Amino acid sequence: MKEIAKLTFGVGDRFAHQAEAQLRAFELCKEAGADVIPVWNKSNREHLIVGSEPSGTRAAADAAVQALGWKDDYLLDADHINFETVDRYLPHCDFYTLDVADDIGSPADIDEVDAFCARHRELQGSLKIPGINDPINTTCEDIRNIARHFLKATQKAGELYRHIAEKRGNEDFVAEVSMDETDLPQTPPALLVILAALGDQGFPIQTIAPKFTGRFNKGVDYAGDVAQFEREFNADLAVIAHAIDAYGLPKTLKLSVHSGSDKFSIYQPIRRALARTGAGLHIKTAGTTWLEELIGLAEAGGEALDLAKHIYAAALDKREALCEPYATVIDVDPARLPTATEVTDWTSEDYTGALRHDQSNPQYNPHFRQLLHVGFKVAAQLGDTYTGALKAHAEVIGRNVTTNIYDRHMKPLFIG
Ligand SMILES: [Zn+2]
Repeated sequence: MKEIAKLTFGVGDRFAHQAEAQLRAFELCKEAGADVIPVWNKSNREHLIVGSEPSGTRAAADAAVQALGWKDDYLLDADHINFETVDRYLPHCDFYTLDVADDIGSPADIDEVDAFCARHRELQGSLKIPGINDPINTTCEDIRNIARHFLKATQKAGELYRHIAEKRGNEDFVAEVSMDETDLPQTPPALLVILAALGDQGFPIQTIAPKFTGRFNKGVDYAGDVAQFEREFNADLAVIAHAIDAYGLPKTLKLSVHSGSDKFSIYQPIRRALARTGAGLHIKTAGTTWLEELIGLAEAGGEALDLAKHIYAAALDKREALCEPYATVIDVDPARLPTATEVTDWTSEDYTGALRHDQSNPQYNPHFRQLLHVGFKVAAQLGDTYTGALKAHAEVIGRNVTTNIYDRHMKPLFIG
């Protein structure tokens, strides 16, 4: 097992031009006193849309580490993989997000459910977990229901882990289990049953991404009951600490927060929870570096601003097709989107004001931002026109990329 650091932060780099600017944010964070390890993540869906390969992500990350002389660890995440998509990542990645959300709810064999309940009598009755005020009270029937719902998914995670280990010929990697891309949140008692079942699978899971309560839309703030999130997050931490001892899971096991970028209203609750418990955290952010590229181009003005406007117009034109694959993780109201003609007259300040996630700016438009978040396909189709502009305006873009990660994300989460 490759042991994961306590604090890790996932960044995404759609076009593989910003790894250095991203890594500079980790340097600033380290200088400010928090050791946070970068994880470059890219899902198969993103690779397909951009037309890129995992080898490209690896090359960009290695080059950035070289260029800046980064001495600490860094990881490459095969994000949201399954049996169909994992193989092309194997030579390049050392972090695997085993996505078993599709197997949630597919009923497990009744014999296996019976065997699970017989093996885990400790889950039944009144369970007192340090860090949770009230005991968790469960009946045999409760455990059966949860097991029936999740057992298949935990078995699939075990199979996928063993497939990766066999093909790689080693276990020198980090394994995450993700269950976030599903409809219903997992409660802390369900998380406990899931961890017991993952313990039975006998592989070293180091991060787990449950679906939390509330909405985690791409690139915008958390939408939901912050107080309820905080209670649930704290209870999840307590469940994890308990499960590490009870089921022999790695001491490094920690929560992973997906779609974690821009969730400004829950950063303080998370920070408080980490400070109180000393727990670790993995937080995944991905698509917002691409938005900082657009902000940088808009800031540069002239032809670069025109390019940013053209990308918006094309994204608006293809709105339905672009939004469709992301329907469960965005809320774009077409009535709140500016027309292409309106945007034609925008200044640099108008464009960056609408796009940059600054809730105190009256120009900020989360609908404009979310549409562009899923609009990277338009830029991918522009090919060299887009990547050429990234090179020509590398400085202003890089400044925005670094500032976004460090000032708006790392500072509130890790520095204060
Ligand atoms: Zn996810």
